[in-house]
Amino acid sequence: MASPFASLPQLVVAGYRPTTFDYDPSPEAEQTTLVTKEQWIEVFRGSIPEFSKRAKAYGTVQGSERLSTQFADTFNADLDSVINGEHATLFDGPPTVLKLCKLRDQRLRELGFADCFLAVKTAENTKALIELPKVLQDIDAITDKTQRIKALVQGAFAGNVFDLGAAASAKMHADGTNGFSATKSKLKKRPWCVDDFDEFLDRWIGSAKNLDYISNGDAANGETTSNTNIIKSPWKKVIVFVDNAGADVVLGMLPFCRELLKGGACVILAANEVPSINDITAKELNEMLPRVAEVDMEGIFKKAMDSDALKVISSGSDLPVIDLTKLSKKLCAEAKGADLIVMEGMGRAVETNLYAKFTCDALNLGMVKHPEVATCLKGTLYDCVCRFRGAEGE
Ligand code: MG
Repeated sequence: MASPFASLPQLVVAGYRPTTFDYDPSPEAEQTTLVTKEQWIEVFRGSIPEFSKRAKAYGTVQGSERLSTQFADTFNADLDSVINGEHATLFDGPPTVLKLCKLRDQRLRELGFADCFLAVKTAENTKALIELPKVLQDIDAITDKTQRIKALVQGAFAGNVFDLGAAASAKMHADGTNGFSATKSKLKKRPWCVDDFDEFLDRWIGSAKNLDYISNGDAANGETTSNTNIIKSPWKKVIVFVDNAGADVVLGMLPFCRELLKGGACVILAANEVPSINDITAKELNEMLPRVAEVDMEGIFKKAMDSDALKVISSGSDLPVIDLTKLSKKLCAEAKGADLIVMEGMGRAVETNLYAKFTCDALNLGMVKHPEVATCLKGTLYDCVCRFRGAEGE
């Protein structure tokens, strides 16, 4: 049977591995960035309480309390097998982040937990939509191009703290300390542990005549009643692999995309086909966009949706990370001609595609929510990753 999947056309497939960190490093690996197999496995074990909690409360499954314990026991036993090197029956080859994420989702799904984060995703979407108008106004009020782009990137980081797949950020959510504005104001100062922000900024605003003014007034009278400044996009078509529901997509990524739309780019939002943790699905995002458009006083989203400049396409993925050689054919067809690939979130942008190469510009944005990932990147917990590079080959 023909594969339902294809590779992103801009991906350099030679040498591509959808994994950034070696989960079974040799003892000779650099000590300062060494995270052992046992430590990586404990990262996954640390996620079990949050998953069990959501599974237990998942009303669609009868006996969810008992089954949530069964999930925890089975996945714990799987992780023990991986530590002992006895995982041949679980997956082929050495453990990777992608294989372990897949196994965890498989263990949930086989017990009927198809979407046990649905309630929290819905609640967080509603909360974020209430906050969105103020977030957009604040962004629009920044007239300095550099500061506005920085605020948009920082917004992407701040939203990304809504991540129930990582023990540290799940605890912040439970404690109620992961609010968008509070997180944004406390973000780590630059330089971030991966920091190509200057290169990204240069590329976006590099051309000398980038600041245009839209005028609703009578220029002949010297009146400019609207001073909405536009940062022209050097990119014509942008594919954005989004991550989580709630503040992540609504307050972080959508304002970022809106700026690209304002600057004349088309934006394709690539979201999961199948629910995984608190990631937003393509269906959920599609249903939410009209509500987003309603609260955008400038009408940017509405105009973009009406003209097909903004679209949601399923990535085909059922994981919280992404393999760019296993995307839906529809997304790959739509991606033709895209000149910027944006990957967002720790799973997609850091743990699986940090070193992926593309034949066009590429940007990885994400917040570090595992201390082990921080160690590998010589950063700190809640550090930020902003990796930008131009075309790296054919
Ligand atoms: Mg996620």
